[in-house]
Amino acid sequence: MDVKSLIREIPDFPKPGILFRDITTLLRDPEGLRSTIDTLTEKCTDLAPDYIVGMESRGFIFGAPLAYKLGAGFIPVRKPGKLPAAVHTVEYELEYGTDKLEIHQDALRPGSRVLIVDDLIATGGTAAATASLVQQTGCELVGFGFIIELVDLSGRKLLPDIPIKTLFQF
Ligand code: 5GP
Repeated sequence: MDVKSLIREIPDFPKPGILFRDITTLLRDPEGLRSTIDTLTEKCTDLAPDYIVGMESRGFIFGAPLAYKLGAGFIPVRKPGKLPAAVHTVEYELEYGTDKLEIHQDALRPGSRVLIVDDLIATGGTAAATASLVQQTGCELVGFGFIIELVDLSGRKLLPDIPIKTLFQF
């Protein structure tokens, strides 16, 4: 089946001029969802992560089933103020202004292998910020997994030189 065609385009969301790639139409399709998780799993198995780190909120949707399939743990990276215990924080640049992401300080065992997962890489800012959070914890970042890569934005240039696994390019 053509899973890529299940990803819907929404023009001018969330702002005029942006063509948003909507994954909800992929998620609601049983075969599309299964195929996406299975393909991501195949691509990431060789990285042998101990933990999947997923970013709020669409990173949770793909990261948790991937962790289950790989026999890894799942660790959420969240917007500020959501995690209850002590956190590491990273601030990163947006097109206008800055944003922050947080991870529990005790979430990752130092020295363990970590794979970062999100639904989509655009400019790479979110993934690069998450990488720096993981590096603050003394873990080994072994790769990145994204369902979608917006290639014209060259987000991978912001990321460290480790494997980047993607399913669909636009
Ligand atoms: P970046 O930081 O790489 O510029 O943006 C990636 C982040 O923004 C990801 O967390 C992703 O969920 C979200 N994002 C940006 N554009 C889109 C889009 O067109 N579709 C979806 N589903 N997420 C997007």
